[in-house]
Amino acid sequence: MVLSDPVEELTGVGPKTAAVLNKYGIKTVKDFLYNLPRDYEQYAAPTSISEIRPGKVVIKGKIDSLTSRRARKRNLSITEGVVRDATGAVKVVWFNQKYRMKQFSPDKEYYFTGLYELRNGRYSIVSPSAAEVADIDPKTGLAPVYVAHGSLKSNDFKRLMNKSRDIFALVPDLLPSVAHGTRAKALYFAHFPNSTKSINGARDYLAYEELFELILAARLNRKENEKLKAVPVPFNQEKVQEFVKGLPFKLTDAQRRAAWEIFQNMEKATPMNRLLQGDVGSGKTLVAALAAFAVATSGGQVAVLAPTAILAAQHFASFSQVLEKFGVRLALLTGATKKKTELKKQILAGEIDIVIGTHALLTDDTEFRQLNLVVIDEQHRFGVEQRQKLMLKSPAGLAPHLLSMTATPIPRSLQLTVFGDLDVSILNELPAGRQPVTTRILTGVETKERLYPMMREVLKSSPDAKKHGDLARGQQIYWISRAIDENGDTGSEITSVKTRTKRLREVFPEYRVEFLHGKMKPAEKDAIMEQFASGEIDILVSTTVVEVGVDVPNANLMVIENAESYGLAQLHQLRGRVGRGASQAYCYLLTSGDTYPSKRLRELEKSNDGFYLAEVDLKMRGPGEIYGALQHGALDLRIASLSDTKLISRAQVDVMGFMNDPSRMGDYKELMAGISKYQQITTLN
Ligand code: ADP
Ligand code: MG
Repeated sequence: MVLSDPVEELTGVGPKTAAVLNKYGIKTVKDFLYNLPRDYEQYAAPTSISEIRPGKVVIKGKIDSLTSRRARKRNLSITEGVVRDATGAVKVVWFNQKYRMKQFSPDKEYYFTGLYELRNGRYSIVSPSAAEVADIDPKTGLAPVYVAHGSLKSNDFKRLMNKSRDIFALVPDLLPSVAHGTRAKALYFAHFPNSTKSINGARDYLAYEELFELILAARLNRKENEKLKAVPVPFNQEKVQEFVKGLPFKLTDAQRRAAWEIFQNMEKATPMNRLLQGDVGSGKTLVAALAAFAVATSGGQVAVLAPTAILAAQHFASFSQVLEKFGVRLALLTGATKKKTELKKQILAGEIDIVIGTHALLTDDTEFRQLNLVVIDEQHRFGVEQRQKLMLKSPAGLAPHLLSMTATPIPRSLQLTVFGDLDVSILNELPAGRQPVTTRILTGVETKERLYPMMREVLKSSPDAKKHGDLARGQQIYWISRAIDENGDTGSEITSVKTRTKRLREVFPEYRVEFLHGKMKPAEKDAIMEQFASGEIDILVSTTVVEVGVDVPNANLMVIENAESYGLAQLHQLRGRVGRGASQAYCYLLTSGDTYPSKRLRELEKSNDGFYLAEVDLKMRGPGEIYGALQHGALDLRIASLSDTKLISRAQVDVMGFMNDPSRMGDYKELMAGISKYQQITTLN
């Protein structure tokens, strides 16, 4: 058997199992062996049931009284049972794990481990892991836990893996002799640990292997990039100083540093490939405007790509505000733009210096005379192909400088690995005077008693407005809803944007409540956004179309309904719409109420730091989910130990050594084939 054989070759894998495995991306023997346990349960040293205390517990006993039922509301199944040992009995509960009904036989003994806690007035162990006592090595008490893939649960993977024990010995090493140990051993101990130490050893080996691949891919990309030519943009200190002096505020040190790094990069004849990352509200737009200014005043053109029409319009306004007075010619190009043909002619003739737009920028007939800089806001929202389309609009034989921006901070570990071919600037500082947003989780029933009064306070008072001499105006509110219509595809538990608008109009008759969603005509959206920005609208009920970038400093309270249905990064982005002015901002996360708030929501409640939350998100979901939405899971690292900086530096050194001798690369076919998938992620050419 070889690693590239299909999974059907494995003992115990018939066509049905193979189909499920394939569906989840496990196509070859290699994929199967690299489908590593998500975690290991520790069943050693169980506690007598009479002695357990709230917190994480391990118990051993028989289970009876298993029942399963549907929860009153939502689409939730609850499976319950009672575990007994010689000393007592305890209730165990699972949610949406109906298969537990079939897992146990009443006469066998099992280990259970999970959190023993108070729920609905009664102590129970919630969603425990379970394993048959006979299946666990009593010396180690360790059991791998696999991610369930469709009908294949963790235990099925354990069973299949057991049947394949013999093939591990046949696995050849992937890497040149830079790693300690062998791949065969590492994979074996990952699935069949004989101690905690052996798990760590296996993880280290496999993490190192993966890091090596990632870094090698990124380095090869960078090498390719360095072969390209770009038009150097001379740094004109005088002009830049004049620009900065004209701003209504002082640049933050981080903005200053980032701009400097960009200017230095663009002076070169090789294209810049720089990622500007900064938490929401850190002022990325202005840094981009500075870069665009430098290019425009040196005779080149700039394209700024934004993910939504609202955002493009807003960037256009921000850019115009600071650049028009220098005679820079700007244009907005979105789907709604009138006289497109006319505008495109001007762009081609070089009569426009900076074009800001959405996907409309990408069409073949949008041609430039001298495109020297491409700015991509929220870069992870665009696919590789879309980015490349824009890059190709520079004059033949030349590549534009590229500035990508993201508010989903990339943990440092990923920077060094996956994004190793990018240069990175970080805005790790918010403009002076900003206060962190106060975030609270509220259950649905608290809306009337707690939330509405708070909303009323906010609508009434406005320190910002007072400063501007406008005593009558209060602050504004975003209310985020999940669906556009009631009959959307999101289910009946969700109040739509339209219904919510109606209800809020009843609750707050003296205020103006409007709604916004992605299916509205661009002109309608713009009109609503403009009125919200100018303070004519008090409460804006919206879907996540306001998620990216929108900037209305007087909006100081956000309510996110059905908060549990969003990802952490997205919630942080949404929340970033408030807290952009000088006064205290609030974010209320509404949950439906009968489940304990998820870790996501609790983390969000605790922290305002996008970098920290990105680390949490990375741990919880893996990088593929976060950065790879448009990149087909190419980033789904099997081992999330990207926090190991020592291992990363070792792999970096070894990759450099390996690359010094290109003739060797041909000898490592599996390695070179494997990295091509990573290479597509950030490549420019
Ligand atoms: P993001 O990084 O989220 O894209 P923006 O570029 O939208 O942030 O900036 C957020 C707000 O901060 C804008 O209103 C912008 O005008 C303002 N801003 C940017 N830089 C500064 C600064 N140095 N001092 C004060 N306000 C700033
Ligand atoms: Mg932005």
